[in-house]
Amino acid sequence: MIDSHCHIGFDELKDDIDVIVARAMENGVEKMLTVGCGEKNLSDLCYVLDRFDNVYGSFGIHPNEAEEVISAEKLSQFIQSHPKIIAIGETGLDYYYNDTPKEIQIQNFMTHIEVAIKLGLPLIVHTRDAEKDTIECLRAGARNGNLKGVLHCFTGSKKLAKAAQELGFYLSASGIITFKINAKNEKYQTDLLDTFATYPTERLLVETDSPYLAPVPKRGKKNEPAYLPYTLTKLAELKSISVDDMEKITTGNFYNLFFKGKI
Ligand SMILES: [Zn+2]
Repeated sequence: MIDSHCHIGFDELKDDIDVIVARAMENGVEKMLTVGCGEKNLSDLCYVLDRFDNVYGSFGIHPNEAEEVISAEKLSQFIQSHPKIIAIGETGLDYYYNDTPKEIQIQNFMTHIEVAIKLGLPLIVHTRDAEKDTIECLRAGARNGNLKGVLHCFTGSKKLAKAAQELGFYLSASGIITFKINAKNEKYQTDLLDTFATYPTERLLVETDSPYLAPVPKRGKKNEPAYLPYTLTKLAELKSISVDDMEKITTGNFYNLFFKGKI
């Protein structure tokens, strides 16, 4: 199986990187896509990509990391600084934290979309408390060219899922789908599970988003790619298909979207 989104270049995981990649492989995770979230992450990202044949990379400016606008030229340069950077992101909009003004976030998001279309690379989208603007930006981008991508660690509404489906976007399931339903999260969690149960199977991916969001039964611990099977198993259960089939399907989906990962 393939972890379509992790951050093994981040400080929380970097120091044990050899052990973490080995443990992932022992648990059946044959490839990983690790994501760099700003200029300060770029050298660590390249280090990881050089060190492991089976780790690919994505680079973007995370909406909460953006202090200023980035130009399309500079972003393209970063993306093209390593041949194993095969996607753009994570980018997107996050209005949960007030770190970065909305205007800067939107401008940067549109720049990432523009570069993704220009370079023909898939886009990895983060969105939190910003669904309406996220949909508008993606639709505006899709009118300008062939835009492909994924809403990573999907936790959005049914409305957002519908918009993503219309755009041909993938949804990526994280450890959140393994979280137990309780009185507090009942409506939200039931809707989320239903979204994954009904979304087209050929548009589904799985991820850890490690070091964050460890799945049950590792919830609360530092997450790592080796824990991906818990999320894959839950997704298979939601779709009423075998874990083996779900593994084959999500691996095929990964290569369809991140086509440069085949090389
Ligand atoms: Zn992430």
